[in-house]
Amino acid sequence: MSLAREFDDDRIFQASMDLRRRHVSEDQLRTFEGYMAEIFAACGMDLTTQGTRDTPRRFIRAMLDATDGYEGDPKLVTIFDSECPGEPDCSLSQVIEGPIQFFALCEHHSLPFYGRAYVAYIAHDQIIGISKLTRLVRLFAKRFTVQERMGQQIADTLDLLLRPHGVAVYLEAHHLCTQMRGVRETSPITRTTCWRGRFAEDANLRAEFLTMAQRGGE
Ligand SMILES: [Zn+2]
Ligand SMILES: [Zn+2]
Repeated sequence: MSLAREFDDDRIFQASMDLRRRHVSEDQLRTFEGYMAEIFAACGMDLTTQGTRDTPRRFIRAMLDATDGYEGDPKLVTIFDSECPGEPDCSLSQVIEGPIQFFALCEHHSLPFYGRAYVAYIAHDQIIGISKLTRLVRLFAKRFTVQERMGQQIADTLDLLLRPHGVAVYLEAHHLCTQMRGVRETSPITRTTCWRGRFAEDANLRAEFLTMAQRGGE
């Protein structure tokens, strides 16, 4: 029963991942480096030192790496058959995975927000491994995004992949755009949740999930 297979409607899956194929030519890279050098210099950076001479180029490359979730992930889609009997009680037990570490860029400031994701689902015909859930979280984290949308995209794509009885996503993150510029000394954590299917209907399932997630954070 544990034969791996590919998701069978690849077209819908591709649409759900909302991919942008990116290509930056060497010419563009040089142009962008020029822009970044101007911006860094205006901020006060001395671009003539050993340490900073290549910073504009490194910055552009780091931004492209940090946002390569737009490129998709070919290793994501392997799923497995489960042994759900299709009876009423098949929807009772949840699989909870986490913490899954993630790093994202806030689309308002292009500064990082980072933290941990917990993902749960109640399996029906298919299950998915923890390494694939990690890939799913990072697919949507490595973009310009906001925390709420990231959680919704993870939930919706998992829902589409597995057609489970329910999906839950809990994200907790530090947002550098508020922390670096803010005046507060403590570092607040932003928490978001996203519920699909049985989780949306059943407060007990949500409570069980959140208790497990918070225990995992200790
Ligand atoms: Zn921001
Ligand atoms: Zn079922």
